[in-house]
Amino acid sequence: MARDPRYNILFEPVKIGPVTAKNRFYQVPHCTGMGWLRPRMLADMREMKAEGGWGVICTEYNSIHPSSDDLTHPSASLWDDSDVRAHALMTDKVHAHGALAGAELWYGGIRTANMLTREVAMDLASFPNAVGHPFQTRAMDKSDIRMFRHWHRKAALRAKEAEFDIVYVYATHGYLISNFLNPHMNTRGDEYGGSLENRTRLVRELIEETKEAVGDRCAVAVRFAADEKIGEDGVPIYGERREMFEMLAEIPDLWDINITDYSLEMGVSRFVKEAPLEPYMDFVKSATTKPVVTVGRFTSPDTMVSQLKRGVTDMIGAARPSIADPFLPKKIEEGQIDSIRECIGCNICYSGDTLGVPIRCTQNPTMGEEWRKGWHPEKIDTKGSDGKVLIVGAGPTGLEAARALGARGYDVMLAEATRDLGGRVTRECALPGMAEYVRVRAYREQELLNMPNVEVYRESALTVNDVFAIEADHVAVATGATWRPDRFNGEAYVSVAPEGTSPEILTPDDIMDGKLPKGPVLVYDEDSYYMGSVIAERLKDAGLEVTLATPSDHISHWAGMTSERWRVRTHLMKLGIETIVSHSLTMFDGETAKLCCEYSGEAKPLSVSSVVMVTQRIPNDGLFRDILAKVDGKIDELPFTLKRIGDCEAPAIIAAATYAGHKYARELDTVVDPDEPMKHDRIDVGDIPYGE
Ligand code: ADP
Ligand code: SF4
Repeated sequence: MARDPRYNILFEPVKIGPVTAKNRFYQVPHCTGMGWLRPRMLADMREMKAEGGWGVICTEYNSIHPSSDDLTHPSASLWDDSDVRAHALMTDKVHAHGALAGAELWYGGIRTANMLTREVAMDLASFPNAVGHPFQTRAMDKSDIRMFRHWHRKAALRAKEAEFDIVYVYATHGYLISNFLNPHMNTRGDEYGGSLENRTRLVRELIEETKEAVGDRCAVAVRFAADEKIGEDGVPIYGERREMFEMLAEIPDLWDINITDYSLEMGVSRFVKEAPLEPYMDFVKSATTKPVVTVGRFTSPDTMVSQLKRGVTDMIGAARPSIADPFLPKKIEEGQIDSIRECIGCNICYSGDTLGVPIRCTQNPTMGEEWRKGWHPEKIDTKGSDGKVLIVGAGPTGLEAARALGARGYDVMLAEATRDLGGRVTRECALPGMAEYVRVRAYREQELLNMPNVEVYRESALTVNDVFAIEADHVAVATGATWRPDRFNGEAYVSVAPEGTSPEILTPDDIMDGKLPKGPVLVYDEDSYYMGSVIAERLKDAGLEVTLATPSDHISHWAGMTSERWRVRTHLMKLGIETIVSHSLTMFDGETAKLCCEYSGEAKPLSVSSVVMVTQRIPNDGLFRDILAKVDGKIDELPFTLKRIGDCEAPAIIAAATYAGHKYARELDTVVDPDEPMKHDRIDVGDIPYGE
């Protein structure tokens, strides 16, 4: 299909200093949990985006020197020649598709404790570590500043040697350079502190020195925050940022603009919708003639065009939309708008960096698997046989399995017990703030419409006899999981109701089915991700008095991995939901919930009329077990191959469900060595004798 001429503007080239981007699609620097630790996985992942049509592909943050290391979060690095070789893997691949490669140089300062290198972290003063480590920074003296500029220059030269086209001066996100700009932090008495001119001195020197070092061939970009302070969402507090920007406006070749509040800049969709930075961009374009890029979790080409035409930005910056769909530009170019796999704003991708593990994505199960499994988001091997496949259950697991098997050319029957497809995402997306999760279903449902080889049977709850009667060659059971009314006490699942009583105890499934408990209600959260707080909000919206309690020391503890924990807690406070941490629920008799302190064991009685248990889930594997029971558990004696996949195998996050469905589809009729199921990206010591 041809591209809609409305979108032509997205495909105009943009000159950035000495280089030219082939279009306006710009993958801004984003972390991957791979960094210098996994260069091969990283290179192939970035290549996929270049193949998918992005005009510029950037690295994640590159440490310029061992005195700035971020482990356990794996950054990239530009410390020595081996880094140059590692980055060249990526730049070669990116260039092969006609895209530009950008390197973001980084120095952490107050945010790094240098756990790997044990070097003393430096910042403009002696500050406490900003992420809670019991370390302080050394106050930089003038010789430290000279050394820092020298390291920055050397790293820029290495970036050039590695064939990058764009080199960044990274002056945001609370790292060293942004602290020099900050009027509240920078109270130095020398020429680098005090007046506006003095505070901008370092960033000006870095831009000029980087240009002098690499500017003949590389563009120099600056990452800069448009606002000074975190205010109400969407209400910028500029302070002196405009004046500061105007002083530097013409020096770099490109401005990459973001904001001070990271939880708004890359907020989860529950709290932040598309294009949240627009109000902050107000003065930027009018104050510089240089190209500007900014982000906004853009997935709609109409929003992108609107931003360009209204002069908000010159390039469409993206991290998450490029992760969910590396082929987003190509799909717009080829008129395949309906096939865009839209980001759902869950930030599971970000959890890779938080946890120090390779990136993954809820919408794109191939993300991070390009090198070690050879997975491509748009290409898949054709079928390995003419076998018919039956998939039972059309949640995210079953839908993705059907889509990917359909793409392989298999004849697929997808049977779903209910009228609606989507399973848990269809149910969860009706909860407060969760609407965008429906995209997990929407993308797959749309793709299935174009697959005549996939038949979908709604309102078809299959029994074991149905499964045998269908005479499929392969059966995948993707029947999901159900929330439990009890809890795991560390050793066993136990009920909180005294024996012989039946107080009102509900689960998230009951609430999603439309049931409302009597208030006041306790939401008891052992799941620790989003569900507890979302259920609490749903009940509060219904007018109930709600308390949320958890044995964890934090509300929605795991949501810290996706950067949403802090917003969740503020939100609950605003809603007037009481919260109790570090307490386990041991008993509920219909009137009193007994919450016990995790440390002292002391009981804290809470008067409530009902409890919603957000604890663990029971795999719905009854059908799977019934099928096996027909052959006494001897799976090889079945007339079809059989697998249980997704939440039915092991309840987990939605990203694990789409991954499980995809993996099943990829591996059907292939031989996977169970001993070595994937390639291992790690530092290979080769045959150098130990000790040399
Ligand atoms: P997952 O996350 O693994 O995809 P879900 O719970 O989201 O799991 O989806 C499971 C789906 O399976 C639900 O839509 C449910 O209605 C459906 N299902 C469960 N049992 C059967 C069955 N026997 N026949 C057909 N569909 C079923
Ligand atoms: Fe978007 Fe979630 Fe994928 Fe990240 S993991 S790109 S937020 S869908």
